[in-house]
Amino acid sequence: MTGVSAETVLHTSDHWSAFYPEPRPCLADLLARGDFASIGALYADWNEYGMSDFGVSVQNWCVMPRLGRRLYLAIDAGPIYDDSGSLIAVVETVRDITAQHEQQRTLATLAAKDALTGLANRRTFDETLMAEVRRASRAGSPLSLLMLDVDCFKSFNDTYGHQRGDACLKAVAEAIQGAVKRAGDTVARYGGEEFSVILPDTDQSGAAITAQRIRRAVENLGLGHRGSSAAAVVTVSLGAATAVLDSLDAGELVKAADAALYCSKRAGRNRITSSEVASAFMFV
Ligand code: GH3
Ligand code: MG
Ligand code: MG
Repeated sequence: MTGVSAETVLHTSDHWSAFYPEPRPCLADLLARGDFASIGALYADWNEYGMSDFGVSVQNWCVMPRLGRRLYLAIDAGPIYDDSGSLIAVVETVRDITAQHEQQRTLATLAAKDALTGLANRRTFDETLMAEVRRASRAGSPLSLLMLDVDCFKSFNDTYGHQRGDACLKAVAEAIQGAVKRAGDTVARYGGEEFSVILPDTDQSGAAITAQRIRRAVENLGLGHRGSSAAAVVTVSLGAATAVLDSLDAGELVKAADAALYCSKRAGRNRITSSEVASAFMFV
């Protein structure tokens, strides 16, 4: 697995050379020295480790110096004591779990994304919104949420067929993503032909500007829509809600953005409505 034969390291202190280009302690060395404090520092990239009565385990990528390849390793180090309780040895076990790790990452991506559009799915949206609400409450910063719904989409499907409908949703998803500028913003497919955008650190006017930019971006796709009552092309209606209360919960924010979206629909579609949750004041 390492490309280093046992003979070259047995009865030497060169065991590190199978894993690192320069001398440095391995996990078993740290355990033998009782130097638990260095584990976090030396394994800075190691994203997971647990300690138990049986020792220490870590997992992470390791560029194998002899192999010249990256392997994802699961490493366990366990102490052995004599009858008087003195440490006499440490056993370190190294397993190559690269394939499992990559499968797990693929599954995690599949579980987080919407299959049709590649956007964050509903589950990721729920998790992200809860985390952002907590963060905004702590930081006392504004948090905005946009809810979007494609106008007269049932009639789009009826007129052009479901496949064209799916292609349209993909294009709309790309237009939304393209109109959202900050790296911390999350665009999600909320369900069917409904999308949502979480805008951290964004006040009501910032949310309205982003909502208008998205509305225009979808309109500018120029996807013909004969059956729409709103325009000759595919359009979206948007509702924006901005949380200004520090005790706000995610459910209230979704409800407010939904209510604002409903106002946009009632007022004729292809428009935005923005609201501030604290005042429950809405305008078109
Ligand atoms: P409104 O302007 O009021 O939103 O009208 P609407 O027709 O868009 O509203 P409604 O919610 O009645 O219709 C949503 C339609 O979206 C119905 C459903 O068939 C379609 N839809 C939902 N998900 C998908 C999808 O994944 N692909 C396609 N092609 N259509 C979808
Ligand atoms: Mg809908
Ligand atoms: Mg709709």
